[in-house]
Amino acid sequence: MTKILITEFINQDSLNDLNNIFETKFNEKLWEKNEELTEIIKDYDGLIVRNKTQVSEHILSNAKNLKFIGRLGVGLDNIDTEFCKTKNIHVQPATGMNADSVAEYVVSSSMSLIKKIPILHNGTVKGNWPRTTIKSAEINGKCIGVVGFGTIGRKVAEYSLKNGLNVLAYDPYIKELGDNEKDYRLSSLEDIFQNADIVSLHLPLTEETKNLINKSSFSKMQKHPIIINTSRGSVVNENDLIEAYNQNLISGFALDVFENEPITNDLYEKIKPDMNCILTPHISGVTTESNIRVSNFIVKKTIEFFK
Ligand code: NAD
Repeated sequence: MTKILITEFINQDSLNDLNNIFETKFNEKLWEKNEELTEIIKDYDGLIVRNKTQVSEHILSNAKNLKFIGRLGVGLDNIDTEFCKTKNIHVQPATGMNADSVAEYVVSSSMSLIKKIPILHNGTVKGNWPRTTIKSAEINGKCIGVVGFGTIGRKVAEYSLKNGLNVLAYDPYIKELGDNEKDYRLSSLEDIFQNADIVSLHLPLTEETKNLINKSSFSKMQKHPIIINTSRGSVVNENDLIEAYNQNLISGFALDVFENEPITNDLYEKIKPDMNCILTPHISGVTTESNIRVSNFIVKKTIEFFK
């Protein structure tokens, strides 16, 4: 019987569906136990992970029977995909299944930050009543620069347009926009730095995108934009971002992803309660609804693959 190993959280209904067809082992803490995982992986035909399991060459070298890896999410930077190719292991992300959740996060955090909700909240709970000292604004009519125009970038553009934002899209791998995308403008990164009130990042983490947004980028931003990063932490230089905020080059930031997760004291100590910022623990794509979609999708793909 085909054997499937699941090393991180999956919803119960999807697990039941897998149990009906395969011999499965589910241990949502297994991602923490590298040695145990390296030892037992040799018995399994399929592996299902989220983003915490580091599917390294070391583990894969022991995975003698492995043919399929299902990723409960998108972003494959925790899986050695090049090594998988050499071993003919199919890697299946849940493309698009959490795009709505991320897009809602981007629009809601854009609204919160442009309205300065974090600062207003902090002032109010401290008893300062900052009713006239803090200037709030609307997102309607403002401009969002979407950096990385793939599945999630496009969904963010759609949600942004519906909320009255103008959309600039940057993606060097896209030469022209589709017929149904005439309301967006394909732009250069420089154009986005000059014109965007909100810069939202939707890139994979690669050698090319690592540290893409850095001191030099912030220095070119003309409109003191808000920065939103839901992609991967290392796409933005975190030290440069905090410095840019402290120098008023940017007016706020929402970070859902970090270079180190959980975040380290180094960064934590630089975040002050009166900053216009929102920090969340890598949850923008994780909602009740997306969890169900992601799990159902990966179960369906696993079943199809082993048929
Ligand atoms: P995708 O592959 O559909 O889109 C990525 C886009 O980035 C592609 O169009 C690609 O051409 C573009 N790109 C690649 N290199 C680029 C560069 N140097 N400059 C500009 N664009 C570049 O992926 P997706 O499904 O849209 O997801 C995007 C990323 O979001 C994922 O890789 C993942 O890391 C992250 N993500 C995070 C969460 C979360 O919960 N925080 C959830 C889902 C996805």
